[in-house]
Amino acid sequence: MKTIAHFIGGELYQGQSGRVADVYNPALGEVVAQVGLASVDEVNAAVANARRAFPAWAETSPLKRARVMFKFKELLEANQRQLAEIISAEHGKVVSDALGEVTRGLEVVEFACGIPQLLKGEFTEQVGSGIDSHSMRQPLGVVAGITPFNFPAMVPLWMLPVAIACGNCFVLKPSERDPSAALFLADLLQQAGLPDGVFNVVHGDKLAVDTLLTHPDVAAISFVGSTPIAQYIYETGARHGKRVQALGGAKNHMVVMPDADLDGTVEALMGAGYGSAGERCMAISVAVAVGDVADKLVERLKARAATLKIGVGADAAAEMGPLVTRQHRDKVKGYVDQGVAEGATLLLDGRDYQHPGHENGFFLGPCLFDHVTPEMTIYKEEIFGPVLSVVRVPDFDSAVNLINAHPYANGTAIFTRSGGAAREFSHRIQVGMVGVNVPIPVPMAFHSFGGWKASLFGDHHMHGPEGVRFYTRMKTITSRWPEKLTAEFVMPTMK
Ligand code: NAD
Repeated sequence: MKTIAHFIGGELYQGQSGRVADVYNPALGEVVAQVGLASVDEVNAAVANARRAFPAWAETSPLKRARVMFKFKELLEANQRQLAEIISAEHGKVVSDALGEVTRGLEVVEFACGIPQLLKGEFTEQVGSGIDSHSMRQPLGVVAGITPFNFPAMVPLWMLPVAIACGNCFVLKPSERDPSAALFLADLLQQAGLPDGVFNVVHGDKLAVDTLLTHPDVAAISFVGSTPIAQYIYETGARHGKRVQALGGAKNHMVVMPDADLDGTVEALMGAGYGSAGERCMAISVAVAVGDVADKLVERLKARAATLKIGVGADAAAEMGPLVTRQHRDKVKGYVDQGVAEGATLLLDGRDYQHPGHENGFFLGPCLFDHVTPEMTIYKEEIFGPVLSVVRVPDFDSAVNLINAHPYANGTAIFTRSGGAAREFSHRIQVGMVGVNVPIPVPMAFHSFGGWKASLFGDHHMHGPEGVRFYTRMKTITSRWPEKLTAEFVMPTMK
């Protein structure tokens, strides 16, 4: 059985902790490898390597750092199919979907290629007579990323290109459920000419995470994962003096107005609800049907969802693959049981789905609930599976109030032909990312990604301008060059 190694100081390192976790092929339902779970000493070794590499990397000009990113971008483009296959094999999502994930990550690398421009400071001549002021942004030091299973390449790529281009050294602790994509990225970065120690990967569980959270040489933590862990990361990291951005879970609603183009809306809901088996933080899990659109919407959705093509990674026609682990598949099934028990109408039941030839795979068919109400567990909690709930509301205001009352606030969308309704929705909704006739409004790399409320702890969103701010500290210099300096005993003011 293959054991997946760490990547420390530019070298693969087989963990010596004696602790491992199983890595599955979800389509087969079989263990395909084991991953070493790092000990405290192993995490410390990664941080020490990053710390050693930091002074030289921070002194490397932004122009040269950008050239490494350009090369990394070329290598990622050339190897994207292989990376997508690695993702698909351990995560289960179909290869076409994994290719989309790689593209969205690649776009952050493209953004980071512009780092010389992004790090330009501000300058004011004559803030006072004969006095000038300028500001600059400098790297933090060693920063760490802790990432979830559902985007094993894209989420690390939300973080590491910006952090590294800004002059930091990075320690990545990827999800132990699909760890291989991180090592593939490490190899490409090395081929791109990144000096050893600037990027390190340690696999692990809570022990590795806690070691990073409390390590005196780690200056900042970027986290993406579920809300309880995000809150823990934020609180623990902040208590240990670190800058923290911790993105959490979601329950994304899509409002369907009576004037929406129904066929297009149903297609949008299909992709956003069932794509990647619902294991996306921006997946739509609640359709909010406004007024008399509900019956028509539910009827068409049910018919379309029944035709959903389920398949294994390499199947080009497949629209959805298996879930990540047996345990997660059973948890999602449990939510469906609970929805039925709490009185929601189950229109489509995927609980007994078995994929022909892959009977042990972690598959689940699409599930569709109607008449879901805000008190039900399936409405309140994040399910993270192919389960779509329809909530019926009488009018636009009720839809806005419903969404604003939910603790999660990652993404949302409205489907309508009315510019006025869309404008009002965008203005009043208390959610970090909003789509107007766009079901999954993931901001582009040169904007920033992040939710509100229980979907983000800390204040900086990922990548884009917020990413550059997160990974740098501002310094402001005030200077004068007078012929003669005189003492001033009052609070200095500009003349
Ligand atoms: P998770 O919270 O279980 O794990 C995330 C990371 O935290 C992993 O690296 C894991 O090893 C680590 N971890 C898990 N338990 C820990 C503990 N007790 N102490 C310390 N570290 C711990 O999340 P997941 O199941 O891998 O991913 C799915 C979740 O991520 C969903 O809730 C989803 O909404 C969320 N997510 C959010 C976003 C976003 O942008 N807001 C994006 C992707 C995924």
